[in-house]
Amino acid sequence: MSHSVTTVNPYTLKNIKTYQVQSKEDVMKALDKSDKAFQKWKLVEIEEKTELLYKVAEILEAKKHDFALLMTQEMGKPISESIAEIEKCMSLCDFYAANAESFLSDDIIETEAYESFISYDPLGTILAVMPWNYPFWQVFRFALPNLTAGNTALLKHASNVTGCALAIQDIFIEAGYPKDVFQTLVAPHETIEELIKNDKLKAVTLTGSEKAGKSIAEQCGNLLKKTVLELGGNNACIVLSDADLDKYLDEMVSARFQNTGQSCIAAKRFIVTEGIYDSFIDQFTKKVRALKIGNPEENDTKISILARPDLAETLKQQIDSSVKAGAHVLFGNDVLDAYFAPTILTNVSPEMSVFKEETFGPVAAIIKVKDEDEAYALATNSRFGLGTMVFTENIEAARKKIIDIPDGAFFINSMVKSDPRLPFGGTKASGYGRELSKEGMLEFLNVKTVLIN
Ligand code: NAP
Repeated sequence: MSHSVTTVNPYTLKNIKTYQVQSKEDVMKALDKSDKAFQKWKLVEIEEKTELLYKVAEILEAKKHDFALLMTQEMGKPISESIAEIEKCMSLCDFYAANAESFLSDDIIETEAYESFISYDPLGTILAVMPWNYPFWQVFRFALPNLTAGNTALLKHASNVTGCALAIQDIFIEAGYPKDVFQTLVAPHETIEELIKNDKLKAVTLTGSEKAGKSIAEQCGNLLKKTVLELGGNNACIVLSDADLDKYLDEMVSARFQNTGQSCIAAKRFIVTEGIYDSFIDQFTKKVRALKIGNPEENDTKISILARPDLAETLKQQIDSSVKAGAHVLFGNDVLDAYFAPTILTNVSPEMSVFKEETFGPVAAIIKVKDEDEAYALATNSRFGLGTMVFTENIEAARKKIIDIPDGAFFINSMVKSDPRLPFGGTKASGYGRELSKEGMLEFLNVKTVLIN
């Protein structure tokens, strides 16, 4: 087992920093400390907890550019998107500062009893296993509602963003959270397995691949510990013949190419009806060609390096096998030095890799269909269930499809995106449970019935 982790800038390929991996004993000590901290933290008044959220937002604002640069250097995200990610974390602080008290206050339920109500009580220490693609946002959307609700947190972040993981721990310390309420672990999978077995660890949330999700869910299932899983996605973007391309084309391009395509909620399959197909292809290709490829630290870069070389290899294999099966490369499919060029594939059909599997990079798979019925049938033909989007001027017809979409989200004339005010999560192979909003805040709480006679 390696005793250190070295982070590498995927753009320059230079080492950034080497971190010591914690021993199993140290990780177990961190859990003990977290459990002790919980006993006091759960009793802290909600006003005090929400005050700390404003402090976190202040620190994020003050050091926005440093944090953004750290993300960009560790995983290659274009710097403008890194800045936007920090700003989104700030908006999450504001959201829970404004709403936590009402989300967490007792719900009085009238019964025959003298008094009956629901009390929302924290569980204790929650482990968060997080991915590298939104290194700050994924952690904050777990940590802010959970800390505010009285839980304590241990973070096991993706190893390639260890600098971000430790910077986030520092933010909570600087904001004034009591010691050990939020701790970052630098630990291998085997140690995490031991941690999960310990009674003091109450539940686990994981955002990441299906493989990691299954492994964690299996371990927790055996111990009857609750999990929330935010896994991969293969969202369809349906473009119907009456879609307003002038208004929404930029949104559709962002839906696929944000974060250089490394997003679980990206539009990965564009299902386009024949009435609009030619103009969609023409305009979409023009926009994709115009995306500026470059150094992630430059402000106007829209597409940059993938976070790890193996991601480019997997993507290349998915494209090659789909092309063998009959897909056409309309644009791209080049590995240009450090980059994977934005790629558009047409003539895609359901048996191809780029249709069936999640493509985690800048590749748009386009499927031409006869009509709306065929479009929805193909959109829902997926193992994943994170979200579906449709672009159409007939809102009423789209509204009737809500019941038929088996995903965690259905967006009409908008890309699927997360918003602090709305629940976020998937179904099927995309996982279960919700984050954000009131629903996300309640996931790791004991919804306790209290009755007094
Ligand atoms: P990953 O390989 O599953 O890694 C995610 C995290 O899980 C990392 O911290 C990783 O640690 C850890 N991990 C993996 N296997 C583990 C195990 N057996 N025990 C303990 N920890 C384990 O995924 P990724 O490549 O980082 O991220 C890409 C995937 O995440 C995509 O499928 C994407 O769609 C999904 N994702 C989903 C959402 C969502 O909200 N639904 C959001 C973002 C990403 P190490 O780095 O140490 O291996």
